Amino acid sequence: MRIGMAGAGLSCAVIARALAEAGHEIEIHEQRDHVAGNCHMERDGETGVFVHAYGPHIFHTNDEGVWDYVNRFERFRPYTNRVKATTQGRVFSLPINLLTINQFFGQTLSPEEARAFIAERADSSIEDPQSFEEQALRFIGQELYEAFFLGYTRKQWGLEPTEIPASILKRLPVRFNYNDDYFEHRFQGMPEGGYTAMVERILDHDRIRVVLNSSLTAEDVASYDHVFYSGPVDGYFGYRHGRLQYRTLDFERIEAEGDVQGCAVMNYCDETVPWTRITEHKHFAPWESHEGSILFREFSRAREVDDIPYYPVHLVSGDETLERYQAAAENEPNVTFVGRLGTYRYMDMDVTIRAALDTVQAWLTERA
Ligand code: UDP
Repeated sequence: MRIGMAGAGLSCAVIARALAEAGHEIEIHEQRDHVAGNCHMERDGETGVFVHAYGPHIFHTNDEGVWDYVNRFERFRPYTNRVKATTQGRVFSLPINLLTINQFFGQTLSPEEARAFIAERADSSIEDPQSFEEQALRFIGQELYEAFFLGYTRKQWGLEPTEIPASILKRLPVRFNYNDDYFEHRFQGMPEGGYTAMVERILDHDRIRVVLNSSLTAEDVASYDHVFYSGPVDGYFGYRHGRLQYRTLDFERIEAEGDVQGCAVMNYCDETVPWTRITEHKHFAPWESHEGSILFREFSRAREVDDIPYYPVHLVSGDETLERYQAAAENEPNVTFVGRLGTYRYMDMDVTIRAALDTVQAWLTERA
């Protein structure tokens, strides 16, 4: 079959590869001048630092199949994400762990004592937390919530934490030991040659053709036997039910010398600081050595029409616009909507790859 695809990020790359290996002919249209979507990386011309062009992407997963898959196309170097946070004039370790708790409260608690100490501060009357705020108050209490989450979340989402779902906070663990690995996953690493090279290798197949600086829209669907669409689902339908809300990011690039902040990611949780975090990219590749340094100050804001969509905004109150688009998507038998933008989900890279592998497997099985 002749298959069309919109977007050359992780979703379509993984799907294209499986379809090409099954004998189908694939044509991918990518609006940007590079593949790999928002995990694209490029070398800074001056310093040689490998820059995560659209903000930090650390690969982590519990899914052995996904880990084997990425390692088939790129060499991953061991990397553990350890995040620091500046709040109320002090620096702490994230995710909240025993060091954070002991330093924040000026204590020397053991794991068991810390558990009891936090339980005393938590609001156990909240039985089934729905919002981000309820989840925070239920499990960490007012002081830690205000210090680490309230300001950052307002800046990141442009909403009150009462309006956004508990699932967003559930991304972060709270630990009663000194483990400061940001992720609770068995496999974690950084691609030595970057995600872009990895995606290029996934796409490197005789039956896959990638057209950069080009789009595939609803009007083009009839020229293919099937289309996989990883662009924004509301855009595909010409915004007929209104616009889905996304957050976009602005990066203020700083060029410097030496080691400026001493770690890859420093979050800024106070609302008085306008940025959410600062990334010093060279720390993502500790096996490399660079004199110069590139830092990104990251700012979040509501996405205007021409901005790159980053985070889909989900509300506790639900979203009728999204439901309309989901219904419309179901009524397009020749189009499969995939990925973060096509399905309007907050997806990590491993989840994106797993979803793509499962989608293409189901598609092939249905047609076998
Ligand atoms: N968050 C926060 N303070 C922090 C880090 C995270 O309030 O210092 C909240 C914020 O609402 C964020 C969410 O937790 O959107 C999930 O954080 P994560 O680090 O997973 O975000 P990502 O790296 O995907 O932007």
